[in-house]
Amino acid sequence: MTVAIKSRQIIDGTGASPIRDGVVLVENGRIVDVGREADLGIPDGAEVVDLGDDTILPGLVDPHTHMTINPGKRGLLGQLEGLRELDAQQGARAASNLRLDLKSGITTQRVIAEVNWNDIGLRNAIEDGWVPGPRMLCATRGITSSHGHGAPSWMFDGVENIRKAVRDNLQMGADFIKILVLDRTPTMASYSFEEIQVAVEEAHRAGRLITAHAGANPGTSLRLCLEAGVDSVEHAIPVSDEQIDLYLETDTAFVRTFTIGFQTATDWDWFAGKDIEGRVNVMRQIVKDTVENPPEPNDFADYYKLGVTLQERVKNTYDVVVPMFNKAVEKGVRWTVGMDSMHGLIGYEIGSLVEWGLSPMEAIMGSTKQAAEVCGVDDDCGTLEKGKRADIISVDGDLMEDIWAIARVNFIMKEGERLDHISVF
Ligand SMILES: [Zn+2]
Repeated sequence: MTVAIKSRQIIDGTGASPIRDGVVLVENGRIVDVGREADLGIPDGAEVVDLGDDTILPGLVDPHTHMTINPGKRGLLGQLEGLRELDAQQGARAASNLRLDLKSGITTQRVIAEVNWNDIGLRNAIEDGWVPGPRMLCATRGITSSHGHGAPSWMFDGVENIRKAVRDNLQMGADFIKILVLDRTPTMASYSFEEIQVAVEEAHRAGRLITAHAGANPGTSLRLCLEAGVDSVEHAIPVSDEQIDLYLETDTAFVRTFTIGFQTATDWDWFAGKDIEGRVNVMRQIVKDTVENPPEPNDFADYYKLGVTLQERVKNTYDVVVPMFNKAVEKGVRWTVGMDSMHGLIGYEIGSLVEWGLSPMEAIMGSTKQAAEVCGVDDDCGTLEKGKRADIISVDGDLMEDIWAIARVNFIMKEGERLDHISVF
């Protein structure tokens, strides 16, 4: 049976102009056609879903999340504490987070390191229909070194140990590999070039992508990762022309994670009981208040033990990070954005990009087509095109005129299955 999903405007995610009075035709979980209703017509007997003045767009793709983590619950450093809880506890928290992800319009997400193969278990449980959630791509264990990023229970040092760790992850069902490389000194990273290279080699040998957590400042870790051939880099926006050139030469993408930088100790109290738009509005208000009425030096610095207040983090983002981000985008570096566990807030991330200078179309593509490319699933999702999975959402209003409509998700379809009836709780 054909399902015809129509509305006043469709953004197909390819970068083409919006389709006026358009329709997406779906059969057996796949898109069979997209275009103007006047051109395609609606097949006899089709089920028609008329979304009126909504904007239809591809289901969003989040290339960087951790499904069991809620940053505000335990603070930045507390994230690792959460990963030491019992597996059932972590799984239950994930089930709640996955609803927020889904309700915010995410239909595919990349889970970028969990413990005890919990991501694989939840990926399978979603596929089996036990819990609702986006389609999941899993890293399993992050590959990290002694005296490196830190991990709940493992560290891998030396070429052969890393080779084994990557193979073990793949054996357990990892969809991609994540390596964590830190700058230890301005000239030394936590992994050697050879150690990073072997992880790249083993991931690529299995036909999988590898993404790296690295730092752009001072940038030794970033340079080593790019030269070793990783497919994408998490967090690190290029901070110099040299780094931009290296990103371009190696055709590597970066995954920026803005919203997590604005987390506070009490996020999850403020968000409690709110729907997706309510949560996005809380986030906008926190940042607006911080910009307009800087708080007194507060206990956030102690909480994060980073010596950086929320006020300083917001100021640094506005003054330093956003201009670098915009420059890299303008120069043509491949990019996308990830929530890094700020579940339910992808609308905040997308809306902010427009407030900071991108066009609505650029911001939308960053979380659809470009995100799917970074995750290596662009053959299958990320745009509304013939043959792709029917991952389709709609938002209330004209997204090209009002980017914050992205927080008002109405219709949610994942591979032909409607999921908008699911609640956030
Ligand atoms: Zn992360």
